[in-house]
Amino acid sequence: MSMFLHSVLFQMTEEQQQKWLQPLLDYELIGTYAQTELGHVGKVVTHAIVAARLITRGKDHGIHMFMCQLRSMEDHTPLPGIELGDIGPKLGYANIDNGFLRLDHVNPDGSYVAPSHSKLSYNSMVQIRTGMVLDMGSGLVKGSTIATRYSAVRRQTELIAIEIAFLMCGQQLLENYRSYISQTENGDFSALPELHSSTAGLKAFATERCRQGLEVLRMASGGHGFSSASTFPELYGSYAPACAYEGENTVMLLQTARMVSQGARCLEADLKGGMSNATAWNNNHLHLLAGSNAHCHLFVLDTINQAVENAVCEDATKRILRTLVQFYALDGIVENKGEFLESGYLSINQVDLVSKQLINLLAVIRPNAVSLVDAFDIHDDKLGSVLGRYDGNVYENLYKWA
Ligand SMILES: Cc1cc2nc3c(=O)[nH]c(=O)nc-3n(C[C@H](O)[C@H](O)[C@H](O)COP(=O)(O)OP(=O)(O)OC[C@H]3O[C@@H](n4cnc5c(N)ncnc54)[C@H](O)[C@@H]3O)c2cc1C
Repeated sequence: MSMFLHSVLFQMTEEQQQKWLQPLLDYELIGTYAQTELGHVGKVVTHAIVAARLITRGKDHGIHMFMCQLRSMEDHTPLPGIELGDIGPKLGYANIDNGFLRLDHVNPDGSYVAPSHSKLSYNSMVQIRTGMVLDMGSGLVKGSTIATRYSAVRRQTELIAIEIAFLMCGQQLLENYRSYISQTENGDFSALPELHSSTAGLKAFATERCRQGLEVLRMASGGHGFSSASTFPELYGSYAPACAYEGENTVMLLQTARMVSQGARCLEADLKGGMSNATAWNNNHLHLLAGSNAHCHLFVLDTINQAVENAVCEDATKRILRTLVQFYALDGIVENKGEFLESGYLSINQVDLVSKQLINLLAVIRPNAVSLVDAFDIHDDKLGSVLGRYDGNVYENLYKWA
């Protein structure tokens, strides 16, 4: 569901919905969500939900969402006082008209009715971030399918554990979000801080892993990974921008750090030494980001471990899923071994054992890799990759493609 539709469905009064919802569902009006500098206002949209400061009768009520008509419903020209257009070529999304928008006047509005909760406008962002973890799982599924099938024609590679982890974790977040939405119907917003914190961090964690993962998979496909025939350039263009939109990743991880940093030794030491809160926070950004990433990794690991243990499936399937969970856990330790050694949590010998076990697990996963990606059953038409063709008939079709 788009942010625009979500905002109309969950943040408007019944009276407002009567005016906007049906024309929106009938595609009579096309809307976008304009909160930061870019919105999809370039060519198509007629309306936008604009995030702006509300000042009425001399009082500043902070940032609110405004429904604004941008273009005429008769001839699609911009309304008076509205300047907008397409931002031009960019890294990905060639088919999307990301645009610029300037409003140079505001209609005066008299009375003010506060929303039922001051953070209600967060809901659309939380909902989209929840879905993004699932999205990143599907991005990696496509990339792994291409690289793994192509590797079966040549050599092997593994990012399968991460994609399955994100798909399971995304499902869990979606369930948490649905239960929060049903609580809000009774006016209970108490779950919002925890949900905001977990979705913000996991959005950053999943999008960065997906971006890095697609690059690793592309490189693993050698020279042909550069060709559009592989679909990797298009996948990268589609998934990498997710590190910036819906909240830039560093900023998102710092949101999670606010929840998980209580008792952080680095912060406490600076505060005890007389440093101001803001300076201590600023000076410890790197530690806080590492802590936030570790928290997200643990959240994903806990979630997939429970999901696999509760899964109803054949023993052989459960065995390979358990191997993937172990691989995901150990891979996280090896990747962050510096932190584990520095904190004294693991010794050099223990890290060495973990690395060896990781290599042992690779030998178990490798023979199952093609079956694991095939289990997602992505049709060739949808995958759109010559390298990742189901029939493995790569080279002949690369010639045809060229
Ligand atoms: C493809 C795409 C589609 C988009 N679609 C929309 C849309 O439909 N509607 C919409 O409203 N917006 C949209 N955006 C805009 C997007 O939401 C913003 O780009 C994003 O939130 C980041 O904000 P920014 O660009 O101002 O970056 P900044 O916040 O300026 O970030 C720049 C750098 O500063 C760092 N930084 C910023 N604050 C801090 C801090 N407090 N501490 C430490 N470091 C910090 C960041 O980590 C980053 O490295 C879209 C963006 C993209 C790329």
